Amino acid sequence: MPEIPELEAIRGFFNEHIQGHAITSVETRIPFIFRTPASELRETLAGDTFGEVLRHGKFVLFPLASHRILAINPMLTGRFQYVEPAKKAAAKTCLVLGIDTGRQLRYADDKLMGKVYLVPVAGLDTIPNWATNGPDLLAPSFDEDAWLKALRKYRGAIKNIITNAEFVQGIGNAYSDEILWEAQINPYTPKTQLSEAELRKLYRAALTTMAWATPLARERMVKGDVLDYDERRDFVRVHRRGGQPCPRCGTSISEITANQRITSYCRACQPGGPAELLNR
Ligand SMILES: [Zn+2]
Repeated sequence: MPEIPELEAIRGFFNEHIQGHAITSVETRIPFIFRTPASELRETLAGDTFGEVLRHGKFVLFPLASHRILAINPMLTGRFQYVEPAKKAAAKTCLVLGIDTGRQLRYADDKLMGKVYLVPVAGLDTIPNWATNGPDLLAPSFDEDAWLKALRKYRGAIKNIITNAEFVQGIGNAYSDEILWEAQINPYTPKTQLSEAELRKLYRAALTTMAWATPLARERMVKGDVLDYDERRDFVRVHRRGGQPCPRCGTSISEITANQRITSYCRACQPGGPAELLNR
């Protein structure tokens, strides 16, 4: 599932390559994922021009000169491509936009769980959960004090909280493990057992982790002026690295699967795992 680093890499790439460019053609191949009628996309997008590409939580937002926004949430398996038209289409290619650069912007989605909306600029909050979700982790107003304040109403395991979009958007299962490792906090620690200093450290670790991972994600997704990738996170330090040595202390990384979610952490650097909590 793409998280902030991958989505920021995509945003940065598209800003360099399509901002100011026009859409020349529109193909809606798998209408299932469109939350705006596919006919509306086909009939109204051609001739429109891209503005500055943005990101909000797990949405990539493509503002258009017509004061509308093409908003795409790739959910688990959605992928963006920017390729030559001759490039063979990936399986489950849903949307193909011809661009006046001669390239195509494509969106493919193996599990078809992603969602594509075309809304007026003022209509973003008609997107389900848009208005009730929390701020984006990288929103300038969401500083360390705002993070602490927003945390007050949450209880339970800290990993569950930081991956809850109602608290903060943009952190998913993979980077939550990286953030907690960076902060040296066990993912299962109840928030009520963490000090204010630890919660502040966690905020800084979240920003540090995203800033560290974004260029690494981009290296793996972008080749020159082509965006085409399988999501590869061969650079991560703990997530899905169970049994491998912790890069900080060398202890074998622990991995726990629960509710179809893998959690990886170092029990030496991040003490207080589930067994210890049960014995309290
Ligand atoms: Zn360690």
